[in-house]
Amino acid sequence: MVEYAVLLEDVSRTYGKGDTEVVALRRVGVGFARGSFTAVMGPSGSGKSTLLQCAAGLDRPDSGAVRIGGQDITGLGEKELAMLRRDRVGVIFQAFNLVPSLTAWENVVLPSHLARRRPDASRVRELLDRVGLAGRERHRPAQLSGGQQQRVAIARALLGRPEVLFADEPTGALDRGSGHEVLALLREAVDAFGQTVVMVTHDPEAAARADRVLLLTDGRIVDVLEGASAEKIGLRLGGRR
Ligand code: ADP
Repeated sequence: MVEYAVLLEDVSRTYGKGDTEVVALRRVGVGFARGSFTAVMGPSGSGKSTLLQCAAGLDRPDSGAVRIGGQDITGLGEKELAMLRRDRVGVIFQAFNLVPSLTAWENVVLPSHLARRRPDASRVRELLDRVGLAGRERHRPAQLSGGQQQRVAIARALLGRPEVLFADEPTGALDRGSGHEVLALLREAVDAFGQTVVMVTHDPEAAARADRVLLLTDGRIVDVLEGASAEKIGLRLGGRR
């Protein structure tokens, strides 16, 4: 039996009411197996970010269930949800979301501090090493390239050893080379550390690094591509199968 790190069951999410109502997700059901890498693609407004936010416990579905590690998170209160996000989930954004006044090291350990935990210094060093930032611990975000800043954000997301890493266009603001490095780190989290990655992207080349691509249109999953090449993904997106 497949073990799901994250499972969405019949998830719907609607924003607004009446004339301004927008259905962002329509009864979406999908499982993310442990140790798998999934890319989520689709036109702008198709519901990709909403899917990611609901799956990560950052947004609440109107109906349906979201399970993380088997636990239904839809009924959790704000406090429990915050704890779950802290302990089991890592999130990476296109805009890095680092604190400009803090060094790379301080950014990585900030969530632990906020949770009143003492971060393990050797683990922080090991992570900064792994993401290729050894020697840059004292640099502030403005002193780092975009690629380096995203790698700080990845180290921060990995510190708590999350079961699942959610990434919303993690390479969207990066040049190609830096994008490749970030994707290699996400791939490594899956292959070497058995973590589960769910990544929203517009880039077929980035999506081709995943095991599987979900294609969303108008709040629904309309296609699933397994092990597809960038070329095949690009053709499918372009509608020319
Ligand atoms: P994508 O990530 O594929 O661009 P989103 O999940 O951001 O799509 O959005 C899906 C739909 O829901 C869009 O029509 C968007 O305008 C709408 N939407 C998303 N977030 C909100 C919000 N906070 N308030 C109102 N509408 C929203």
